[in-house]
Amino acid sequence: MKAPGEKINSFEVARKQIDIAGEHLNLAHGLLEKLKHTKRELIVHFPVKMDDGTVQVFTGYRVQHDVSRGPAKGGIRYHPDVDLDEVRALAMWMTWKSAVVNIPFGGAKGGVQCNPKQMSLCEIENLTRRFTWEISSMLGPEQDIPAPDVYTNPQVMAWIMDTYSILKGYSVPGVVTGKPIELGGSLGRLEATGRGVVITAVEALRHLEKSMEGIRVAIQGCGNVGGVAAEQFQRLGAKVIALSCSSNAIYSEKGLDVKRVLDRKARYGCFVCETQEEREITNQELLELDCDILVPAAIENQITEENAPRIKARIIVEGANGPTTPEADEILNDKGIFIVPDILANAGGVTVSYFEWVQNLQELIWSEEEVLERLTRIMQRSFKEVLEISLSKKIPMRTAALVLGIGRVAEATRLRGIYP
Ligand code: NAD
Repeated sequence: MKAPGEKINSFEVARKQIDIAGEHLNLAHGLLEKLKHTKRELIVHFPVKMDDGTVQVFTGYRVQHDVSRGPAKGGIRYHPDVDLDEVRALAMWMTWKSAVVNIPFGGAKGGVQCNPKQMSLCEIENLTRRFTWEISSMLGPEQDIPAPDVYTNPQVMAWIMDTYSILKGYSVPGVVTGKPIELGGSLGRLEATGRGVVITAVEALRHLEKSMEGIRVAIQGCGNVGGVAAEQFQRLGAKVIALSCSSNAIYSEKGLDVKRVLDRKARYGCFVCETQEEREITNQELLELDCDILVPAAIENQITEENAPRIKARIIVEGANGPTTPEADEILNDKGIFIVPDILANAGGVTVSYFEWVQNLQELIWSEEEVLERLTRIMQRSFKEVLEISLSKKIPMRTAALVLGIGRVAEATRLRGIYP
């Protein structure tokens, strides 16, 4: 067990998952070894002019894990804890995720170690443009296509697209996804990950012969993924009993009015109780609440061997990437908790990113209904494929998703062969 406060290395977790899935894949040893390595890694240290006239040096990363099935695809994160191993792990998970939903992308991720909450909009723009310039040799619609992740958003994507386009001398909308609609963003992209989470939750409930009506849901994180998922769960008749942000969480046994609570959070920067039923709790308490569905939708390594024994949810749908460690997984599996793993549950984002890229390349605009209908079809099909592997091989859903994703990438690698 890790000592309290000791950081869990996400890349070690991601590599351990390959070993677990590898036991069910029967692949040549060299192939698994190749997949345990990233293809390309760029570390940049770059100066940014701050509002007070000083210059601050930031460190950023872009990592491509695998491109055997198509261009590298993955978000860019701005967070103080970003480091190379975190970005490597997130890039690897992007590879498996694209393969699980069977879209022709490889996996990548990027990040800058910074605290955007303490930076002005102008400083974030300066940082984004300089970082884009620094990693531009890796980017391109046929090469590597970033998207939003923790603490980045459509505006940041617009600056990346603009900077890359200036370098090229013409507009290149297909270099990023998750852009504003006005710049070639896809309708439905902003909501896609949260929607995908809820589509897979519906499928999990269907499999367990339960309905959404009155189901009690607790969600950690209320950003792009958690916030949208909360609204969608409520729309389908579930009771969202708890929501959190990085500073605190709010709980109501009767169910929260999601829109009101999120509006208040936007106004005050943290959750503020308004009614008698509402109570402030911590992120840790949220994870351990008695609920039907728990949705971790914040950051990695939130469910560990330390708190897993106290998790009371019947179903976990992973909105975040890597929220559960392999040690915690074993405990949750022993408790009979049904897990919809990250590389399946949050794949709605990369799926609609793919739709956005296709629309950009073909200069088409799809309606929101078309996007949602295609997204629903892909998420339902992928859930069914993972569930079938899980049932037929008698393995947990996470291992089944890894078997599907890694198996597809391994087959593409085998077919392409080792050059020369
Ligand atoms: P976001 O920046 O919109 O929101 C992040 C949320 O997490 C915020 O509510 C923030 O307060 C909370 N948070 C941050 N640090 C926390 C901490 N230490 N403890 C508790 N809460 C904390 O980011 P997002 O896009 O919603 O991403 C959330 C997760 O979903 C990440 O793991 C990301 O990699 C994953 N994801 C995002 C997308 C996407 O399309 N945005 C797609 C797939 C996966």
